[in-house]
Amino acid sequence: MGVRVFLPEAPAAPEPVEAPEAPEAQIEQAVPAPVRAERPVAPLPAAVIPIAARATGVDGMDWDALERTVSACTACKLCRGRTQTVFGVGDRQADWLVVGEAPGENEDLQGEPFVGQAGKLLDNMLRSLGVARGRGVYIANVLKCRPPGNRNPEPDEVAQCEPFLRRQVALIQPRIILAMGRFAVQSLLQSSDPIGRLRGRLHQYNGVPLVVTYHPAYLLRNLPDKAKAWADLCLARSVLQG
Ligand code: SF4
Repeated sequence: MGVRVFLPEAPAAPEPVEAPEAPEAQIEQAVPAPVRAERPVAPLPAAVIPIAARATGVDGMDWDALERTVSACTACKLCRGRTQTVFGVGDRQADWLVVGEAPGENEDLQGEPFVGQAGKLLDNMLRSLGVARGRGVYIANVLKCRPPGNRNPEPDEVAQCEPFLRRQVALIQPRIILAMGRFAVQSLLQSSDPIGRLRGRLHQYNGVPLVVTYHPAYLLRNLPDKAKAWADLCLARSVLQG
């Protein structure tokens, strides 16, 4: 068969911790009312909430709660430079889940993953599989906020954000995950191996079959590797047909 050519990535900030109320009579005797009323109660910084505790809270969320929590998230330093969070887009009952790295400049501005030229290439790749953005596929990133200057995400940022993607996977229950690009692949598989060593076979992420392939932005610069990407898509499709 000829190679198909498809041309052209803490729960919400915690509620303010309210001081326990003392019986009114006691308060009146112990603290003058105006002082008590004005005493600020600072919320805990999200970043100090243990990751395990955040994950436990996120694990029970429905789509609305998850989306609200992500959009208000300040659990890592990436919240400071973002225009908006990039939650993910597409069919929430999809068989296919595409996972990239993190929002770039355009994604940060538009609030959607995989836009621009790389997004167009991804759309063409998806079309070749008989799915489309919003129909049969959900698209998300490992990180929901743009790293400044498109630098590589740091381990603590990945650790803080990972519960969100894990919950998305649990809610979608995709039949196959297509991990695109070195960073997404290495994060999801907890591996430091290069893509070339990881592609061509099936992996698992939380019980879901996962296929490794190149990021569309990489393919735009390395045209010969499109043939390998097509082989990866065929491998993923064979899982659904098996
Ligand atoms: Fe929160 Fe993830 Fe954004 Fe960090 S990258 S602030 S963990 S949503």
